[in-house]
Amino acid sequence: MAKIFCIANQKGGVGKTTTAVNLAAGLANLKKRVLLIDLDPQGNATMGAGIDKAGLGSSVYQVLLGMGNVQAATKTSETGHFDVLPANRELAGAEVEMVELEQRELRLKQALATVKDQYDFILIDCPPALSMLTLNGLCAAHGVIIPMQCEYYALEGLSDLVNTIKIVHAKLNPDLQVIGLLRVMFDPRMMLSQQVSAQLEQHFGDKVFKTIIPRNVRLAEAPSYGVPGVIFDAAAKGAQAYIAFGQELVERIG
Ligand code: ATP
Ligand code: MG
Repeated sequence: MAKIFCIANQKGGVGKTTTAVNLAAGLANLKKRVLLIDLDPQGNATMGAGIDKAGLGSSVYQVLLGMGNVQAATKTSETGHFDVLPANRELAGAEVEMVELEQRELRLKQALATVKDQYDFILIDCPPALSMLTLNGLCAAHGVIIPMQCEYYALEGLSDLVNTIKIVHAKLNPDLQVIGLLRVMFDPRMMLSQQVSAQLEQHFGDKVFKTIIPRNVRLAEAPSYGVPGVIFDAAAKGAQAYIAFGQELVERIG
C-alpha cells in the first residue's frame, strides 16, 4: 500500500512544487510506482510534470467534489515516468463549493482509497495556505515533508505549520507525522543560510533531512520545458541532490 506524503509549507515560493515534482521523478527513477497529486489551483506541479493544465478533462477538482473518480482524472507524466492527478484554476472554486459537503476535510482521503494499492508513493503538492485544500492533503497523508529556505522568516512560519500538523494529528488523522524538514534553495556562501541551517539541526535533530538542495538554475529552468529537473539535466547539482533526497527518504521510511 502506498505511503502518502504531503509537501507542505504555507509560505509561498519556498520550493514545494519543485520538491514534489523532482521527488516524484527521483522515486520513479528508483523504480517506485508514484502518483503526484497537484492540490494547488496554480497547477504548477501539473505543468512541471509536462501536462497541459488548460486541456484537462477531469482533474482533482472533480474528484474532491465527487463528480469524477481518481482513475479517470489521472494522467501520465511522459517525461517523469509517474502518474499525475492534475489541477488547474478550476480548483480555486472547490474551497467554497465544499462548504456544503459533509466530512469535507476527508474528500481526498476517501477518493484515494480506491487507488492506493496501485502505488508505492503518493505525493501531494499543497498550495501556499493552511486552507481546506491543504487540510484535505494532511488528512489523507501519513506524513509531511516540509521544504524550507534557510532564512530568518522561515522559522517564524514553521511553528504555525507544526501546530496545525499537531492539531490534525490529534483530532483528524492519528497517522500523520512530520517526516522531515528539507533545506532547499540553499546558498552555502550566505552566512545566514549556514546559521539558520545549524539552528534547524539543533531544534529538530533527526527531523532535518541530511540531504540539502542547493540553489541551482537548472531546477528553475526545467518547468518551462515541462520536464522534471532530475530528468532535464541529471548531472546538475540540483538534480543530483533531489535524487539523493529520494534515496534518503526511501531509507528513512524503511
Ligand atoms: P507556491 O507557494 O507558489 O506553490 P512553491 O513553494 O511550490 O511555490 P516552487 O514553485 O517550487 O515553490 O519554487 C519557487 C521558485 O523558485 C520557482 O521559480 C522555482 O523554479 C524556483 N526554485 C525552486 N527550487 C529551486 C532551487 N533549488 N534552485 C533554484 N531555483 C529554485
Ligand atoms: Mg507550488
